[in-house]
Amino acid sequence: MTDTPAARWEQRIFLGDWQPGRGDSVAVTEPATGQCLGRLATANADDVDAAARLASEAQSAWAALPFDRRAAILREFARLLQADAERINHWNVRECGSIPAKAEWELNASVEQAHMAAAMPMQAVGEIFPSSMPGRRNYWQRVPIGVVGVIAPWNFPILLGLRSVLPALALGNAVILKPDVQSAVCGGLLLAELFEAAGLPRGVLHVLPGGPATGEALVRHPAVKMISFTGSTAVGRQIGETCGRMLKKVSLELGGNNAMVILDDADLESAASCAAWGAFLHQGQICMQAGRHLVHRKVAGRYAELLAARAARLVVGDPAAGPVHLGPLINDRQADKVAEVVARSVAQGARLLAGGQRDGRFYPATVLADVTPAMPAWTEEIFGPVAPITVFDSDDEAVALVNGSDYGLAAAVHSASVPRALALASRLKAGMVHINDQTVNNEFQVPFGGMGASGNGSRFGGPASFEAFSQTQWVSVMDSGIQYPF
Ligand code: NAD
Repeated sequence: MTDTPAARWEQRIFLGDWQPGRGDSVAVTEPATGQCLGRLATANADDVDAAARLASEAQSAWAALPFDRRAAILREFARLLQADAERINHWNVRECGSIPAKAEWELNASVEQAHMAAAMPMQAVGEIFPSSMPGRRNYWQRVPIGVVGVIAPWNFPILLGLRSVLPALALGNAVILKPDVQSAVCGGLLLAELFEAAGLPRGVLHVLPGGPATGEALVRHPAVKMISFTGSTAVGRQIGETCGRMLKKVSLELGGNNAMVILDDADLESAASCAAWGAFLHQGQICMQAGRHLVHRKVAGRYAELLAARAARLVVGDPAAGPVHLGPLINDRQADKVAEVVARSVAQGARLLAGGQRDGRFYPATVLADVTPAMPAWTEEIFGPVAPITVFDSDDEAVALVNGSDYGLAAAVHSASVPRALALASRLKAGMVHINDQTVNNEFQVPFGGMGASGNGSRFGGPASFEAFSQTQWVSVMDSGIQYPF
């Protein structure tokens, strides 16, 4: 099912209601074909200002609603999201180059997140503490932050926008979502339609597509009290600096260069299967992508052979035109970068075992052997379907290699000995470690996030979402009046 040119979002932003944006008009370009799928309006700094004012006004009434009203609206959103799956998946495939299976997974995961968020307003909101003063009771309670700005990337635009939008709304905040212009239809505007239809009061959510200038205006706006950013480390650093200066709460979920460690006693068939999924899913455009493969020297040859055989079987093409394993990379710049990093690494001595031939925005599953820790394929986050392999001789060496990166998002360790794998895992500088699995994992009841250059210690999921999207207030109550010495 497709939208007609008269679709609600066409040339409109969601600023209280559907308004023409004051930023540039942008073509929605299908990465697989270059076809124009429609035109977006974008928001400029004046639109951000208008949205921030409206959101500030609407937030207190939203927070004051009985909690079951907020929950009911989020449940209705979950129902509408599920009911509209076909249209949203269609846009995820065509707008973002997702294969249908990835689009379906993302949609289902988003529905699950919406159900989890709908359960948040009815959870306990505080605790009671003793007091050293007779007749006094202390408690703390959760209160909303106010207006939360959410800046999301294009790779999993629905899930990575909603993982902030939903808990923020559930806890009584108003939200301004700025999706990337490359994913603004499925990652923002269609979601705004559904929130509106679910009965979210006017002004509580705004969806403002735009580029860096729109994002910067959102970050700098004094009425926006928190920024939840998912994207690159370079941009996250800038946002963190601005928020630090403004004393604004900021959650930064950034890039990764995630290691798969294959010990000499690992089940190599399983490890290669995990590695292919972790390295090539969504063309490798995932923050948790398995971008560094560390293999014990004794088994490295066999692992490389198995992984290269799997890579060679993967079909690349237009995901809207037929069954493929890999769709296009999101844009020409990204395809240039992948090709360039592979070429530079091969020039420095890496051996191409599979893939490596670019066709426009399409790039095949690629395996590089004999990679050294100095090569760009090892040091850079490629954000493409490339699996660079290096070897190690001891567990200590593997730990040093993994921790040699500034990034610290996800890692995986393969071994027949779970105690050995666990001992090694506990030494890794990574926010998420998976034993006998691959690096791309997300379960929404478990805190998700990275260390080092992969974030600022913020987490999503389960109890972490309460921490992220609310603040605490200490309230003390005296039973009767008190007299101080003066
Ligand atoms: P990006 O940082 O270029 O853009 C992300 C978002 O920030 C977009 O909406 C963009 O418009 C906006 N933006 C860009 N410049 C900005 C600025 N100066 N001020 C405010 N907003 C600005 O990242 P990308 O290339 O779209 O996404 C890929 C990156 O995101 C990769 O590094 C990937 O690892 C990371 N990522 C991290 C996670 C995670 O959970 N840790 C998840 C997905 C992607």
